[in-house]
Amino acid sequence: MAEKQRIFIVEDERRIARFLQIELEHEGFETAMESNGKRAFERIIQENYNLVLLDVMLPEMDGLTICRKVRELSDIPIIMLTAKDDIEDKVNGLDVGADDYMTKPFAVPELLARIRAALRKHSDHNDADETGDGSARFIVKDLVLFPGRYEVQYKGEPIELTKKEYALLEYLVKNKRNVLTRDQILQTVWGYDYLGDTNVVDVYIRYLRSKIDDRFGEKYIHTVRGVGYVVKEK
Ligand code: CA
Repeated sequence: MAEKQRIFIVEDERRIARFLQIELEHEGFETAMESNGKRAFERIIQENYNLVLLDVMLPEMDGLTICRKVRELSDIPIIMLTAKDDIEDKVNGLDVGADDYMTKPFAVPELLARIRAALRKHSDHNDADETGDGSARFIVKDLVLFPGRYEVQYKGEPIELTKKEYALLEYLVKNKRNVLTRDQILQTVWGYDYLGDTNVVDVYIRYLRSKIDDRFGEKYIHTVRGVGYVVKEK
């Protein structure tokens, strides 16, 4: 994937659109944004994107209608962004041909994992040369993470993690050698408007340590007193 993948962000809430743009560009994607449903549909058809993030409630044309109309013309990967707990939107989104959906507020690592999975699925489908082994992975010492599959292995041995534990570990590993504050971790892994207890970070760090550091007798996650946490290679 030498060429940058282009992601089209269709979202009328400026704050969320901007947040997505920053995170995706940080990950190396190119982005474009649109807040109007009708224009979004025209641009998906006319312009050249690799994937669409599609909000449901939009002015002039809603996301479900856009998705259905796009599917008559194109098999571009579409991930719907649905409102919190709106089960009906999820079901409808998949009914009208979306590849996946995320419920707002979402955690960035999970969204990125789903974007990669959707892009990979699409390219496997369209490119017979792809091995489809999920080539993107993160490695620290004997630990290997497989982002599209939420999988972690230590010396080839699978480690059972919940999605949240995986997201936290991936964030730490992607930023290995950089100390991450509790706030940074909270915002990225739990979402930009998480309102719960900030102790949740310490609790999950403890889970990860018991499943990895303690279990295999090797220290990966280090505490930096008064600041946060860091994954080190040595
Ligand atoms: Ca909206």
